[in-house]
Amino acid sequence: MKAYEAVRLYFDHAAERLGLDHSMQQLLLVPKREVQVQIPVEMDDGTLKTLIGFRVQHDDSRGPMKGGLRYHPEVDLDEVRALATLMTWKTAVVDLPYGGAKGGIGIDPRHHSVKELERITRKFTDQIHDVIGPDRDIPAPDMGTSSREMAWIRNQWEKYHGFNPAVITGKPVEHYGIEGREEATGRGVGILAYKLIGHLGRKPTQTSVALQGFGNVGSHAAKFLHESEYKIVAVGDHTGAYFRRDGLDIPQMLKYSLGNKGMLQGYREAEHITNQELLELDVDLLIPAALGGVITKANVERIRAPLIIEAANAPVDPDADEILAARGVRVLPDILANAGGVTVSYFEWVQNLQYYKWGLNRVRQELDHVLTRAFDAVWHQATAEKCSLRTAAYMIAIKRVKAATELAGMG
Ligand code: NAD
Repeated sequence: MKAYEAVRLYFDHAAERLGLDHSMQQLLLVPKREVQVQIPVEMDDGTLKTLIGFRVQHDDSRGPMKGGLRYHPEVDLDEVRALATLMTWKTAVVDLPYGGAKGGIGIDPRHHSVKELERITRKFTDQIHDVIGPDRDIPAPDMGTSSREMAWIRNQWEKYHGFNPAVITGKPVEHYGIEGREEATGRGVGILAYKLIGHLGRKPTQTSVALQGFGNVGSHAAKFLHESEYKIVAVGDHTGAYFRRDGLDIPQMLKYSLGNKGMLQGYREAEHITNQELLELDVDLLIPAALGGVITKANVERIRAPLIIEAANAPVDPDADEILAARGVRVLPDILANAGGVTVSYFEWVQNLQYYKWGLNRVRQELDHVLTRAFDAVWHQATAEKCSLRTAAYMIAIKRVKAATELAGMG
């Protein structure tokens, strides 16, 4: 299923429960602006390559738009549109004063030199600098981008508009970034996992975990869960997955991946399995933290975990979600599960606007506070409405965006 269709189905389901009429649904769904730009870039060998860059700005009724920039071969307008929409619901469900946006370029960053990536990023910024800005649309890292690209974007944007580090978040700490941004999404997954299993009367030591993805989100989630004494029995990345029934040595795997260009390939201290086998393991908690669309109608019958936390964006297709719900599997939806990143991005933006620096402890405490408040609201709504956590999260988010839209007036 195409990414946008999937996000749309989740929206429709919650909008129907809220009794939203067709015209309001259209107003909330249709993106405010979609930008597609040509990026001509000279490669290191002197050849010219023409790339296509996207920035979709979905909604700004609750504040400036916010969302990551993804460098991945599968990036296209449909995916960016879906992810921009998700950002609107994500910022609303955790109640940040933002709307939603997303951007990307369909490249594999591993196939480009650092110099090429810098040229691509600067050229892309040239094309979109007039639609982004601290009070318009604030990009951040996503798959395939990191603080390095954010520093380039800030530098390029400031050539047009002057000093203002709040134009982008996820910057290096030395460049007005915030301590704790890098770990934020993974830490957020850990905070929410603790809330979820706590509500179900379970302890970390009694909870076995399989985790797909060992990049920014996956590796920090693994670290946090390991420190909290969960039993992580499997982790994987694009090179394959690794399994040990009595628990993996996560600190050792983090070290191994760090010394191996961020990959687990060749790790020998555990059984090598496929990513598909990882998803189908008999564990208490499954955390997809890599790509979207990994749990579909094709494999859902073989998914055995009773709890799923969507650390990645859109890892469960709606038709698979329905089957999981009917089986009583609890799915903590992406718009809440991975909101730790945008929450700390918000703290970074606030700091930049105030020229005031917080310490790591304060960042962690405030993150805990925002996510706990959001989780409690979603849990309460799901209990009151007798619906899934996903529908409850969408209902809260849609209600907030609708209220802001109506209060602004339609004239
Ligand atoms: P990343 O690029 O740092 O890491 C991606 C990981 O996924 C890598 O370990 C990679 O090897 C793995 N992977 C790629 N293809 C795979 C495949 N076919 N099978 C198994 N593993 C595969 O990206 P990230 O920032 O960790 O983002 C991961 C997910 O989390 C994405 O869906 C992203 O949109 C979402 N997300 C990220 C953030 C953030 O702050 N970074 C915030 C919210 C949501």
